[in-house]
Amino acid sequence: MDIIHLLPDSVANQIAAGEVIQRPASCLKELVENSLDAGAKRIQVIVRDAGRTLLQVIDDGIGMSEMDARLAFERHATSKIREAQDLFTLRTMGFRGEALASICAVAQVEMTTRRAEDETGTLLEIHGSDVIRQEVCSCPVGTNIKVSNLFFNVPVRRKFLKTDQTELRNLLTEFYHIVLVYPKVSFTFVHNDEILLELPAGSEKQRIEAVFGNPKRNVYTSAFVEIKTDTELVNIHGFIVKPENATRKAEQYFFVNGRYMRHPYFQKAVMTAYSGMLPNDYQPSFFIYFDISPEAIDVNIHPTKTEIKFADEQMIFQILMACVREGLGKFTLAPTIDFDNPSTIDIPLPSNGPVSRPQVAVDPTYNPFHTRNTIYPDKVPTHWESLYEGLQGEKPAPNVPVFREDPLFVEPEVLKSEDVESCPLWQYNGKYILVPSANGLVLINQHRAHSAVLYAQFMEQLTHTQGASQQLLFPEVLELSREEMILMSQMQGDLHAIGFDIAQLSPDSFSIQGIPAQLANQSAIPVLQHIVQQVREREADTQREWQEQIARALAQSAAIPYGQTLTEQEMRDLVTRLVQLDHYRRTPEGKIILSLLGDEEIAKRF
Ligand code: ADP
Ligand code: MG
Repeated sequence: MDIIHLLPDSVANQIAAGEVIQRPASCLKELVENSLDAGAKRIQVIVRDAGRTLLQVIDDGIGMSEMDARLAFERHATSKIREAQDLFTLRTMGFRGEALASICAVAQVEMTTRRAEDETGTLLEIHGSDVIRQEVCSCPVGTNIKVSNLFFNVPVRRKFLKTDQTELRNLLTEFYHIVLVYPKVSFTFVHNDEILLELPAGSEKQRIEAVFGNPKRNVYTSAFVEIKTDTELVNIHGFIVKPENATRKAEQYFFVNGRYMRHPYFQKAVMTAYSGMLPNDYQPSFFIYFDISPEAIDVNIHPTKTEIKFADEQMIFQILMACVREGLGKFTLAPTIDFDNPSTIDIPLPSNGPVSRPQVAVDPTYNPFHTRNTIYPDKVPTHWESLYEGLQGEKPAPNVPVFREDPLFVEPEVLKSEDVESCPLWQYNGKYILVPSANGLVLINQHRAHSAVLYAQFMEQLTHTQGASQQLLFPEVLELSREEMILMSQMQGDLHAIGFDIAQLSPDSFSIQGIPAQLANQSAIPVLQHIVQQVREREADTQREWQEQIARALAQSAAIPYGQTLTEQEMRDLVTRLVQLDHYRRTPEGKIILSLLGDEEIAKRF
């Protein structure tokens, strides 16, 4: 008996759907992109229960003939390419002819569509790839697709969906990626009968403002500088925030040929251009659009990927960085910009892995060994910078075996709590606590040490007890974007547990009445903004991850800053609490907290 058989289309489609339609957001993306490909000028999105029960997209595009309407739901049915060659010159959004086939395999779909030249339209109803109904109908020109009960026949997928709030955030994120490149098209987004976004047609600048506009958060158009450069390789234009308007949480968007993309390497180019201009922890918002010949980029065959490869990444890095610098130079008196000497610019090479957040606003003239330098000029190690780097968590040059920069390599017990009880302690440079130990001199980064201690404390409060709250004399108001509001409501329970007394005030604001006691005299708004930003940047899959992110962000904000003078008792308390932690060598973010200057290393210097 033959054992090979062809899968029925409905099964093949369901398998394909797993790839293309992973969640309501991917379904929305496909539908809206189809509407844009169909030349729509007005697109309405109607969502119920974060897309679980309904996702509807109504457009005024070219519509479909009766025949095309039926074909559109077949796999590999597309009006957009005819030959493989077309793939390389592609400028439309969809091209694989898989989206509708995939969607109708895992949902109940009803579509009405009409072309301008036809008097009547077509109504089509398909449930899980089975055509239930096809008839002539009267409807406006354009296409109206209603996707109900997504994954109704794939329970595993349905279970895989996150909370409504998370799925709604995903929907909005996907929606932002699209609307920011189509300012000439008007959009509305309705969720459970509430209009979340109403975006009239306008310029790119107006669109950015319509989506994110919020003067309190410095995302308003006069906070931005326009940038533009045209080269043979690439045309770049966009908007970058003026350094004085940078915030802790930034909106950072790259687009290429009308598509959103993530590009950590180019992000580094922008950050490099801003370096030295922003306070620590601050990020520039930017919206940067690349226009490049489709042959020079890797055609993004996979519909769900947002990373895009460029043929000349390093060239574009330089063009982009120069372009951002020029924009910044025009509007700021930035003495650090040296256009005549671009060779001083340090260009990092692209890496395959994720590029870590570059450290900005490092003061290169800061010399932690300055005082020694004047007292014992001949005893100063010549490569003091590498010592400093060691403390920053980077590897010092290999020929300078001074600090063993990674305490994980040294004897397991660097510091014993007995060491700490009675030994003398010094604070150095408002930044480090020096502790003599059995093996040498231990340097402890005070801010990181405190943030590790607080992190453990916050985690404890989140999981077990109620954090102590300190009431504010004057309640503060925190204004947020839609997306952030959703996040805040999601976090509300945890924030309460940790000592925040907050309540929703309006659709786009929260009032803050009390803050965790550990935050003492800090202003609540930047702290909460920092938490929202941190949580937003990283996807949390479990309640635990989510709480870790909140605790981490809060600990960073509440930890004693550099420059704060500590009494000996304060230092002793801090170090004692630090060494009692299960993990006291690194912060929850993985940064080094303490470093050992070993006895041998000290002896070698004399
Ligand atoms: P693709 O977009 O990759 O071609 P889809 O499955 O998304 O594949 O759509 C199949 C075809 O259906 C499209 O090529 C297009 O001709 C037609 N189509 C889909 N949505 C619309 C729409 N909103 N308006 C007009 N035509 C549409
Ligand atoms: Mg498509």
